[in-house]
Amino acid sequence: MITVIGHINPDTDTTCSAIVYAWFLNQQGQEATAYRTGELNKETRFVLTRFEQTVPELLTELSEGQVFALVDTNNPEELLPGWEKATLVSIIDHHKLVGGLSTPDPITVCIEPVACTATLLLSQMDQANIVPTKEIAGLMVSAILSDTLNFTSPTTTEVDKQAARRLAKVAEVETDSLSSELFAAKSDLTGMSVDDILSVDSKVFSLGQEKLRISVLESTNPALALAMQNELLESMNRIKQEESLTGMFFFVIDILQSKAELLAPSEHEKEIVSKAFGVEFNEETLTLPGVVSRKKQIVPKLEAALS
Ligand code: MN
Ligand code: MN
Repeated sequence: MITVIGHINPDTDTTCSAIVYAWFLNQQGQEATAYRTGELNKETRFVLTRFEQTVPELLTELSEGQVFALVDTNNPEELLPGWEKATLVSIIDHHKLVGGLSTPDPITVCIEPVACTATLLLSQMDQANIVPTKEIAGLMVSAILSDTLNFTSPTTTEVDKQAARRLAKVAEVETDSLSSELFAAKSDLTGMSVDDILSVDSKVFSLGQEKLRISVLESTNPALALAMQNELLESMNRIKQEESLTGMFFFVIDILQSKAELLAPSEHEKEIVSKAFGVEFNEETLTLPGVVSRKKQIVPKLEAALS
């Protein structure tokens, strides 16, 4: 039995690709089950309901000898606790290779510079002559639209677009209208605390001497989150202390206008950002036109400024 999981703080690609990969393994006669690695965000929950999937069971740690396949990450810092004792058998990912994972035996690794894990899963299905069902295709096209922000993110490649077009046909959906539904779901902050908002999409990066948490919120209505500015900054300062971080950033991405509004809890972060983006950061928030991708735009700039 193969346990299929993605990164902690699961997003739509991580959860959908885990389900899809487990299904794909099942089609090939292998026993596999997908798990979720944490609370699902509203967008992911919408997608699972929309394409008639049950919510995967929650897994909080890996146990000794548990055989697992990884999707949507290759970063040991984003894995469930206990991964060191478990047996990794494959990685399918579209993030930079960060190193740190090792296995006793050779494993299958597929890491390609596309915008979404689901794109890679479609090529693997093509090679295996396996055709996704309507529901599986629905999960896959949703993952691609989510990771590419309906193809507006600079991470988007022709391969992602072609994959999404094909999958949309199978799923009998239209990409623009499905995107609108995804955007609406992810922009809905009803019932969410400030801490919930900061953890919707949050990752820790060790860059130079810094240990930084970078949280991102994609929204069609950034004003909703920005109205909570003071509470957000208070929480960010608390999280910094609790997690012994040197800094924390919160980027509210305006999906429709392709820009970011950045919140930073102290002068230290503001100095880093000023250096990284070559702009003055003296107000409460900083607008960064055109910035929508943590992976392709935010982290590389911070990394360059801090190395
Ligand atoms: Mn992801
Ligand atoms: Mn992804």
